[in-house]
Amino acid sequence: MQKLIANPFLKYTAPGISGLHPYVPGKPVSELERELGICDSVKLASNENPLGASPKAKVAAAALLDELARYPDGGGFELRTALAEFHGTGVETVTLGNGSNDVLDLIARVFLAPGSEAIFSEHAFAVYPICTQAVGATSRVAPAHDGSIGPRFGHNLKAMRQLVSEKTRVVFIANPNNPTGTWLAKNELLEFIDSLPSNIIVVVDEAYTEYVEELAYPDATQWLKQYPNLIVTRTFSKAYGLAALRVGYGLSHPDVTELLNRVRQPFNVNALALAGAHAALNDHEHIKQSVAVNRVGMNQLIAGFERLGLDYIPSVGNFICVDVGRSAAEVDSQLLHKGCITRPIGGYGLPHYLRITVGLKDENQRFLQALESVLK
Ligand SMILES: *Cc1c(COP(=O)(O)O)cnc(C)c1O
Repeated sequence: MQKLIANPFLKYTAPGISGLHPYVPGKPVSELERELGICDSVKLASNENPLGASPKAKVAAAALLDELARYPDGGGFELRTALAEFHGTGVETVTLGNGSNDVLDLIARVFLAPGSEAIFSEHAFAVYPICTQAVGATSRVAPAHDGSIGPRFGHNLKAMRQLVSEKTRVVFIANPNNPTGTWLAKNELLEFIDSLPSNIIVVVDEAYTEYVEELAYPDATQWLKQYPNLIVTRTFSKAYGLAALRVGYGLSHPDVTELLNRVRQPFNVNALALAGAHAALNDHEHIKQSVAVNRVGMNQLIAGFERLGLDYIPSVGNFICVDVGRSAAEVDSQLLHKGCITRPIGGYGLPHYLRITVGLKDENQRFLQALESVLK
């Protein structure tokens, strides 16, 4: 912070940049081990797939190593075609991103500017305020549910709807949301989208959709034909286990897609990512297995929290937030010394909560033991 204030170039930046706080990622294992001189640590901090990537994706990406001197297909034709088929849409609806964060950023660059506003919920994914501010637009943050009607900490669509004005250009919705793991049912989300003026872009971020097993949970890609102002984003970083490759995508009306592709860097998705994602998309077995492992691990964590008498936020994702009853940042630093990397979410307005990614059985066990000893 101090350094930002002292930066002499600050007064020459584009609008929004001077007040921007960069995204804080989960600590990489290598960094923790370097800092503390420990080994054998577990990382349950970034919602990565503990099973790793699909073996098919690894083979496909590795097969590209002899082509490293060549530029990738800038149009991503094969992957886009496969995604269009997967979703029953057309190729012209697909925008590829260097992770879905890249797509969120493209949306902000195309539709937001100084003087316009983006709406999202309190406790929503941190990239929404960052990409809004980066283009000098204004964030309007709706209070989350307090638990009296909807799920505590979840998106309150009525409160979000109330913030809509002539300045609103984009509404960001995470379903389910990270870090809270809360979700919106089909009826309420559809009713919300339907209530919006058709010139407002509504983004439904489905980064964790593969994990959700609730019957009332919607697949917003089904609504694309009905709502030309709808953009649905998905990623290969979570259930598909390809976070390192950086590949995600947006689905939208061809007219919207065309605008997003005007600002997209021509080679924003690398060749290994294109090939790996294509192979991963076809490995349904790997997704099935990942979801099954997540279900078991989620139950293990919940049982552990209940045994320790800790409150948690019910989650449909591959992560869960637990109330440690004191500064989660302090608990996190004590956990780090025990070789467990988790994510304190004070930056999301939940200073007593740690977000834990569901890991393999041994990893979850190791974390629960460390947590118990820290809280003792
Ligand atoms: C992880 C995450 C993303 C996407 O991350 P990428 O790796 O950039 O695809 C998008 N939205 C939410 C809510 C996430 O948690």
